[in-house]
Amino acid sequence: MTDAASAGARVGQERANRLAIEGGTPVRTTPLPWELPGAHWIGEEERELVDRVVRARSPFRFYGPDPQRMVDGLEREWCATFGHRHALGVSSGTAALTIALSALGVGPGDEVLVPGYLWVSCLSAVVRVGAIPRLVDIDDTFCIDPDDLRRKIGPHSRAVLCVHMSGAPGRIAEIAQICRAHGLGLVEDCAQAAGARQGGRAVGRFGDIGIFSFQLNKNMTSGDGGLIVAEDEALFRRIVALHDLGYPRNDAGRLDASDEACQLWGMGARMSELAGAMALAQMRKLPRITEAMRSAKWRIREQVGDLPGLSFRHIPDPAGDTGPFLLMLLPDGATAQRFIAALRAEGIAGPPGSLTCITMQEWGMHWYSNIPSLVHRRSNSRDGFPWSHPANAFAAGYDYSAGALPRCDEFRARGALLAIGSTLTAADEDDIVTAFRKVARVVLR
Ligand SMILES: *Cc1c(COP(=O)(O)O)cnc(C)c1O
Repeated sequence: MTDAASAGARVGQERANRLAIEGGTPVRTTPLPWELPGAHWIGEEERELVDRVVRARSPFRFYGPDPQRMVDGLEREWCATFGHRHALGVSSGTAALTIALSALGVGPGDEVLVPGYLWVSCLSAVVRVGAIPRLVDIDDTFCIDPDDLRRKIGPHSRAVLCVHMSGAPGRIAEIAQICRAHGLGLVEDCAQAAGARQGGRAVGRFGDIGIFSFQLNKNMTSGDGGLIVAEDEALFRRIVALHDLGYPRNDAGRLDASDEACQLWGMGARMSELAGAMALAQMRKLPRITEAMRSAKWRIREQVGDLPGLSFRHIPDPAGDTGPFLLMLLPDGATAQRFIAALRAEGIAGPPGSLTCITMQEWGMHWYSNIPSLVHRRSNSRDGFPWSHPANAFAAGYDYSAGALPRCDEFRARGALLAIGSTLTAADEDDIVTAFRKVARVVLR
């Protein structure tokens, strides 16, 4: 090699080693797939089932010219796959949460224990039924900390809303045990964890009621939609009445007011047959979608597991993880910012508008302190309900602003998140690992 050629090679090597954020060559330039797990899998199967509904001109589940029983099919297959006794298709995860709390009879005078890492819907459900949210801190699983839960249970506690965040449950068996010991209802929010298990048991089977969401960002999608699961017969009857117009229906699909225990006020949250058809086709793909994310995530996690200063969320049962997110912790907030900025510059990013590689501070209304309507106790009505309700006076001193939950605040400050696409290729995985190692050499020294 001539001197000039070897000098050229050296310059090329230096440029590849230099971080892209400092002017070096990025590891990749094409965006990673958008983190919408089920959406990438929509195909002929969805079209075929939706087509059947359209051709039958029967988009309503309870009656019509020729109902195709798509929502029925979804509920039946869901129960058979995951071992639930009852399942009900609904219009969204948010509606499902409100229905679940109403089914348990939660209202003014009650508080519901919720983690500080959650989704805004969890809080809106509590507030809309007239109850008070009581914040509980998280542990290394990024889910409810059982010890803080024990500390926070008080005379007004009625139920726990346990949220299986970012694809997997935390210490759910222990939490279920605490609920039983204290006579508290347990609702599992499985919106981010469809298909997840722990010790072989499907999420939604640890508590009284489980809810799922089929919105676009979830493990499977019907655009919008959701599901409620329950074991108890009478409780499920209430759920069915509440999701509809407040009454159960007879075999002809007409409202049946004959049962006094089920003369209630409905949410208007039925699932349409179109959503049911989409969801049925998607649920048949759910094992493949979650297997793709789980295996990619754990392969990546293994290959960067030795990097000093980088640690990961604890997942009690990795086999039951669904894998949509790799949650990371860096030594401090400044390092987390630098680490993520450098990764993005290396091309570890999705298409514009996606949230593929971000610091936890950018994770919006997943953190209690980022939710203005909670921090400022907003109301939908002029009288300030439910905060102003006399039965809720016990909660006057509750604090919802940053500082209320130390572990949440810490993880929000020094945490980071990589969304794991359900269609990552081996080359994508290699690029992610290469970029992590390259950035770590400089940023995590
Ligand atoms: C998405 C989500 C919901 C709400 O579901 P929608 O179908 O969007 O109403 C509730 N809880 C959690 C944890 C979620 O991630």
